[in-house]
Amino acid sequence: MNEMGNKKQYKIDFDGPYMMSIDGQLVGSNSTFEVYNPASGAVIVQAPAGSKDQMEEAIASAKKAQPAWAALSHAERSSYVSAYADALDANIEDIITLLTTEQGKPRHSMAKTEVEAAIFWVREVAKRELKSEIIEENEDHVVEISHTPLGVVGAITPWNFPILLGLWKIAPCLITGNTMVMKPSPYTPLGTLRFGEIAQKVFPPGVLNIVSGGNDQGQWMTEHPDISKISFTGSTATGKKVMASSSSNLKRITLELGGNDPAILLPGTDFEPLIPVLFDAAYGNAGQWCIAVKRLYVHESQHADFVKKFVEYASTKKVGDGMDPSTDIGPIQNKMQYEKLCSLFDDTKENGYDVKLGGDIDQTLEGNFVPITVVDNPPEESRVVQEEPFGPILPILCYKTVDEAVRKANDTDYGLAASVWGPHREDAIDIAKRIEAGTVWVNEIHIHGIDIPFGGHKQSGMGVENGQEGLAEFTNTKTYMFKK
Ligand code: NAD
Repeated sequence: MNEMGNKKQYKIDFDGPYMMSIDGQLVGSNSTFEVYNPASGAVIVQAPAGSKDQMEEAIASAKKAQPAWAALSHAERSSYVSAYADALDANIEDIITLLTTEQGKPRHSMAKTEVEAAIFWVREVAKRELKSEIIEENEDHVVEISHTPLGVVGAITPWNFPILLGLWKIAPCLITGNTMVMKPSPYTPLGTLRFGEIAQKVFPPGVLNIVSGGNDQGQWMTEHPDISKISFTGSTATGKKVMASSSSNLKRITLELGGNDPAILLPGTDFEPLIPVLFDAAYGNAGQWCIAVKRLYVHESQHADFVKKFVEYASTKKVGDGMDPSTDIGPIQNKMQYEKLCSLFDDTKENGYDVKLGGDIDQTLEGNFVPITVVDNPPEESRVVQEEPFGPILPILCYKTVDEAVRKANDTDYGLAASVWGPHREDAIDIAKRIEAGTVWVNEIHIHGIDIPFGGHKQSGMGVENGQEGLAEFTNTKTYMFKK
């Protein structure tokens, strides 16, 4: 079929009702919940709240579909997953618009990038394979290591990057021969319901099921004996619950959790060209980013000058509705997070910290808008330094010695990612090696890749996504020994 034919075949109606995908069918539910546009506070739509029975049906369907799916060759599964990338592509503009509508991020920048990257991921992961390997062979015997699918995977996703993080789970799960039940965040279920609907045009029934609803669904999944693995992205607090509940049948777990990522600017850094990069790294997606720069350490010789120039730059940026092409930073995605930020802003004010930009949330606005805020050198023990704000507020901290900066950077239960910036590459790399985090960038930031494992240390997670290691987490290692 030519490309135009393909596109038509895969196009879905984005104006149609939002339905769950269970056993290859699009299904509604007896009860519903409201999904809001964070830029206006208006209800976008009522989404289906799947019942416990529907979750059972989805898991049973994934279980039934799994043996035949696993029995396909890698090449056959690869062509299904590639077709899924084509099908997503056929709907790309609608997915981007929906992402901005329910999540808030600017359509022309972050939403577009997220959806394009997600589709690219699906297309590329379709080509990845964990091959069997002979690790020992002598005149008597052969030892072969292979990777077998786990069975049914339960995927639980958050609201900050619902499209990318959802598809990061689906593609490696399916290519390795597992089937899936996915539960999106109740704050941003719509994009996931739509990409589930698109998937039903491509995959056999039961290979990918989507059930939307509340947090209790996550618990039903983590407790369920027919789920072999939970792939979870969300907060550390929920990650701990997932881990406890998954112990019932020793589920495999991958936990991608919170972070409080430090960035260290070493003395003598030519920082002016870095300001736009660091601004985006801290305030992109309105700071609602697990790997956002959340603490910025600048040497005392440059601190005051840096703060002045950073604030000058940040003042030119606009917070607004993500559908407006002039918006740089969108709203906070949901009221729960917005209220957490109101409390953090109150704490910053009550303690008299030195706020150089922003600082006051106008609670009369209809959308969840929070101003770009810079706090100059608050104490290490302050909430804005210790907590993961998940909003557009950044403390810029002053240090005297590099050892002090490293000690403070590591003084956290989190260990997701970090960055080190400096004039001498080798020195910066030496510092990077002392940072306790799953990913440390030097003189660059937020680079991800299909073949680059990503995961948190300490309480930022367990296991990795992406790369061969990420694929392997969707499999059991199986050792064969054959006597010759
Ligand atoms: P959250 O933990 O509140 O929710 C995440 C998901 O878990 C949602 O789908 C929710 O419905 C579900 N859930 C809630 N209670 C559950 C339970 N008891 N059992 C099973 N599932 C349950 O997180 P959030 O607020 O949606 O997301 C923000 C957090 O996610 C931040 O801490 C952020 O740093 C983190 N995050 C981490 C990464 C990463 O890759 N490390 C990426 C994005 C976001």
